[in-house]
Amino acid sequence: MALPTILVDDEKCHDPLSCRKCLLVCPTRVLGLGTSVGPEKFKQIDPAFFVVRGVRFQFCTGCDKCVEVCPTHAIQISFDGGKVA
Ligand code: SF4
Ligand code: SF4
Repeated sequence: MALPTILVDDEKCHDPLSCRKCLLVCPTRVLGLGTSVGPEKFKQIDPAFFVVRGVRFQFCTGCDKCVEVCPTHAIQISFDGGKVA
């Protein structure tokens, strides 16, 4: 199966630390939290810098649960540039 393209619009995903709906709904834990400022071990990272990203792409089944659960429609999943959810 081809790997998906997972797009998350950070403008629409304002506070992933508080929301986390997509992370919790994904049955295969494809999505993860990262930061847009890179690892900063000794500094507290502002929650505004957290982002949702695809991490384990190979486990995405294209079930679209993350797309459906996102309250701000921030996520798009596509396979082979075909269907965009
Ligand atoms: S489409 Fe389904 S398997 Fe893929 S990231 Fe979203 S919830 Fe997870
Ligand atoms: S469900 Fe949507 S708004 Fe919530 S953390 Fe995921 S991408 Fe962001």
